[in-house]
Amino acid sequence: MEAQTPTVQCYERNNQFIFSCEECGKRHYHGTGEGHRISHCDVEGAYPNGYYLKLSALEQLKSYSATSSGHPETQQRDRR
Ligand SMILES: [Zn+2]
Repeated sequence: MEAQTPTVQCYERNNQFIFSCEECGKRHYHGTGEGHRISHCDVEGAYPNGYYLKLSALEQLKSYSATSSGHPETQQRDRR
């Protein structure tokens, strides 16, 4: 297999899985549930096979998103 399908660490909010994309620098929003998704990237050639969503701990993503955006959003623990 030439191209691989990467796994991205995402978090859940408002019944969506969200992650900060390293390819385009934006956040992508998907429906909840880990698994394969089609890329939402605007960048050409980014994730040609899409990616796998993997739910990650909020604490990890807080520092992760803070480094890229410098504007961490308010964390809410409303997971069921
Ligand atoms: Zn992207």
